Amino acid sequence: MFVNPFESPGRWFKANLHTHTTTSDGDTPVVGRCRQYREHGYQVIALTDHDKTNDVAAFCAEDFLVISGLETHPPCPGMGVYHFVCLDLPQDFHFVGEMDAQARIDAVKSAGGEVIIGHPYWCGMNVNHLLPLKGPFAVEVYNATCAKSGKGFSSVHWDDLIDAGRILPAVAVDDVHYGRDIFMGWTMIKAKELTTQAVMDALRAGCYYSSCGPEIVDARIEDGKLKVKCSPALEIHFLAQRACGETFYADGGEPLTYAECAVNPGWNYVRVEVIDAQFKHAWTNPFVLR
Ligand SMILES: [Zn+2]
Ligand SMILES: [Zn+2]
Repeated sequence: MFVNPFESPGRWFKANLHTHTTTSDGDTPVVGRCRQYREHGYQVIALTDHDKTNDVAAFCAEDFLVISGLETHPPCPGMGVYHFVCLDLPQDFHFVGEMDAQARIDAVKSAGGEVIIGHPYWCGMNVNHLLPLKGPFAVEVYNATCAKSGKGFSSVHWDDLIDAGRILPAVAVDDVHYGRDIFMGWTMIKAKELTTQAVMDALRAGCYYSSCGPEIVDARIEDGKLKVKCSPALEIHFLAQRACGETFYADGGEPLTYAECAVNPGWNYVRVEVIDAQFKHAWTNPFVLR
């Protein structure tokens, strides 16, 4: 269902897809925010200020892409508000009047954009709040800013969605506002070139993996086995529905840089999660098996 980035042609681009500036409640103007990420080895950022777009054209370069977007917060009946991270919007985009969550998703998609479900754990959401939403193209599995208050990981929400048949890929993001929440969660995108069109196409195809530390070097199914190569790790998890899956531990010995597991014919999907000695994680998108 998703394109495997490790078997797809193209180049890797490091991205932060959830970024605030002084246009809303960030501490750094757009020009400085772009400089921070560019100098730190990123090739892509999406500017997602609260309900405000930015003029990104002046900040794009041959080696650095800035995607126009915004974050919006429609009501979630019985549970506060959703946070939707909306990407690839025209600069003059705005919501018209009172619009509920689905209407905002539809408006973003009508304008050619896409919606990521932002930090559902921190928002207090469970899968029942998320399943009625039609059209989001990813969920945040990790949000560095929410990690500062202990609710950074939304992997339970992600797995619940997948188990319910809503098979989404997942991104890791900074959601940077201030200096202390930068360069902590990123998405590695495999795209054919560094353009908004190519990067958005890769995101739509799920052609990426996410990390807050480890590198995933390769992940592919060969000879009925899912084989994974990664930077040194203490745990490599192969996660399928419910209690299904398999885990490998370094067990106090040499760190793991490879693991393989037979793909069980009873699995609906399998995804890989790598955890290193600093308890940093990396996530492949799900390999959909049936
Ligand atoms: Zn938010
Ligand atoms: Zn945000």
